[in-house]
Amino acid sequence: MASEKKKQRKLLSVLSRALVIVVFSFFLTYIITVMAGSADFTKAFSERQALSDFDGDIATAEALSTVHYDNLYAVAARMEYLQSAEAVRAVAESYIGSPQFGDLRYYTGGRAFAANGIEIEREHSGAEMIEALSASRAPGCTGVYFDSLEEKHCIAFFVPVRGSAYVDGVLSILPVRDIISLSSLESGPAAALLIDGGGAVFASTVDAQFPYTTGNHFYSFLDGLPLDAAQRAAVYATARTGEKGATTIDLPGGQYTVCMAPLAGFGGQLSLITFTPNSGMTAPELIYLRHVLNISIIAIVTLAVGILYALFYYRKTQRALVVAESTDATLGCPNAAQFEHTAADLLQVRGRTRYAVALLEIRQYTYLTGKIGEGEMTELLKYVAQVLQTFCHAREAYGYLGDGRFAMLLERDHENSVRDRTRLIEAVVNKHSILGASHSKRKFNIGVSLVQEGKRQGIKELLGYAAIACEKAKNDLSIPFVVFNEEIRHEEQHNAAIEAEMESALTNHEFRLFLQPKYNVADDRIDSAEALVRWFDTKKGDYRFPGEFIGLFETNGFIIKLDHFMYAETLKYLSQAAEKGEKVVPVAVNVSMVTASQDNFLSFYVEQKKKHRIPDGFITIEFTESFAMEDYYKIRHIVDTLHKNGIRCSLDDFGTGYSSFGALKNIPFDEVKIDRTFLAPGFDRRTDDAVLSTILSLARSLGMRVVQEGVETKEMFDRAVAQGCDVIQGYYYAKAIPVEEYRIFVGTNTSIKYKSLVK
Ligand code: C2E
Ligand code: CA
Ligand code: CA
Repeated sequence: MASEKKKQRKLLSVLSRALVIVVFSFFLTYIITVMAGSADFTKAFSERQALSDFDGDIATAEALSTVHYDNLYAVAARMEYLQSAEAVRAVAESYIGSPQFGDLRYYTGGRAFAANGIEIEREHSGAEMIEALSASRAPGCTGVYFDSLEEKHCIAFFVPVRGSAYVDGVLSILPVRDIISLSSLESGPAAALLIDGGGAVFASTVDAQFPYTTGNHFYSFLDGLPLDAAQRAAVYATARTGEKGATTIDLPGGQYTVCMAPLAGFGGQLSLITFTPNSGMTAPELIYLRHVLNISIIAIVTLAVGILYALFYYRKTQRALVVAESTDATLGCPNAAQFEHTAADLLQVRGRTRYAVALLEIRQYTYLTGKIGEGEMTELLKYVAQVLQTFCHAREAYGYLGDGRFAMLLERDHENSVRDRTRLIEAVVNKHSILGASHSKRKFNIGVSLVQEGKRQGIKELLGYAAIACEKAKNDLSIPFVVFNEEIRHEEQHNAAIEAEMESALTNHEFRLFLQPKYNVADDRIDSAEALVRWFDTKKGDYRFPGEFIGLFETNGFIIKLDHFMYAETLKYLSQAAEKGEKVVPVAVNVSMVTASQDNFLSFYVEQKKKHRIPDGFITIEFTESFAMEDYYKIRHIVDTLHKNGIRCSLDDFGTGYSSFGALKNIPFDEVKIDRTFLAPGFDRRTDDAVLSTILSLARSLGMRVVQEGVETKEMFDRAVAQGCDVIQGYYYAKAIPVEEYRIFVGTNTSIKYKSLVK
């Protein structure tokens, strides 16, 4: 079940993660696509694209000049080192009519000659530019000039000739239109123009937007385009920088990127300008983006459907699981997890409501289960669960925690309202045949923790407090329930301090043996004594009494060590006193249930007795009544074994818990000690007397001695005697005294005149 749940959780988390990624990439793509559709993005994208293409166009245009220089260098090469004017002329003449050359000139000593050898006094057009170029004696070209005879724009290239006295250099005058074939640019941009520093334009165009012009002025070409003023100015500005650049223009046919750059091969005289239509959304990258976007949309839809399905399926199974997991399988009521869950929710959501957490524990649950059987106990628990369910309001919660413990979250007006309600619950539960039949006054140990207003307390914490309070309620039958309070909190702290000290106290001999003499009514003298522990607190210089620490030691297990220690101290005293020939009477030691449940319990107590050579009958072990409610067979075995080894057994605190006549009947105790609560004022004297006399006659018929504990006054003494108790223990006769004092007591004061006490 758990692994199934895990798998589902994993699937769900994988799916939701995938959805997050897909949604994220969808938005990313969406944003990019939206940007791509936007004018700015298109512009920037297209400009970048156009500029990168433009580099290729520049190379093409530059190559044109290289070709013309190469041609002219070939002529110059043929003229190098020629030794006569004729030879020079012959070479020049050979180029007349050659398609690669326009008018060829060669220069000697500052004079210019045509290819046919006729001297030219002055060029009819572009004379200054040509003369300046030829006089430079360096390779180069002129700017574009207009040949007025031919009515063409021309450009002249010059290359010097080496090593001949008859020629200084060669020059060819070429119509720009002829020398520069723009055909190689035609397949690319919509229009490619060559301009001469803002002057003449030589255009190649594949787009009707741009008039095929040659020989126009660039600015009039620009003026021919239907541009807005700002864009026109931007184009001018780019052209004027004399550096490579791009700008975008809008024409009725679409948006274009204008790229321009001066051409180095033409001495910077010429610039190349291209007009490239902007690609917008048709560019391959953008088409790709569109695809990604479409795929993302499909993926999101698919995944969303998948997740919805998984969620639906998950919810369905989850609900089934929650129902299964939050219910106690046998009782069919909310279990601990469900209670904590609901209670935590209520505490959080209804922060202003005053709440209390109550823990109801069936008294003596383990004992009772043993007595009535599992099946009957389940029926009882079911009944309690039903009662709680009817008692719970809508904004309250209850649940079964196991081991006979129920938890409730109750609304409260005041502390009493919780008490009244739990009492009512108890009263109703009492109607159940089993609980009703049990003679114990209280059916539940009830511990309550009040939710502090304005304080955020977790349900676990509150349950913990309620459990502590419940533990206290267990030990005090006189109160209906215990509310966890500051006092208990202090006690918790106090316990923590005790736990910190107990081990060292044992090694430092802070635990001392006290003995309380018991009085034998028939013999009118000391009968025996009970060994009682006292903890000498060296810091306070005073004794701590068992009530302060025994309960705690029973929960933390330290009682085993303490019981063993007290037993050892008792044996030590008895053997030493006997050795010295002092008078001794039997001594009873207390053994906690925890100690008696140890595997080595019998062997330890028997061996210790042997080791100290204590005669039979001088040691009695007092077991508490709750011990006698455990497994009869086990206890019988314990008692029998102790008897065989000369140790007597006493049933202590009889009448405090689920008094078990069964225990009396089935286990051969030597003695039964009636708890002092039987003598407490306020008890119904007549019923008590009846119960007491029943116990007494039963005990007597079974051959047991009856000891009355807690006899403090003459009145109590008389009553106990009148009832026929054999032995009396209490302050009226003697208090528990240190072992040294006790030695004196046994030796000197073992007898009191009973009769004189009576009257
Ligand atoms: P308990 O076994 O019932 O011992 C009798 C208790 O009653 C003793 O209390 C004793 O001092 C007290 N007592 C005696 N006469 C009177 C009286 O006339 N009036 C009143 N009010 N009390 C009287 P103490 O010594 O405080 O011991 C309390 C409990 O601690 C004992 O109850 C016993 O259960 C436990 N205890 C004491 N020493 C040991 C020990 O060494 N081991 C174990 N496991 N438990 C011990
Ligand atoms: Ca005792
Ligand atoms: Ca007792």
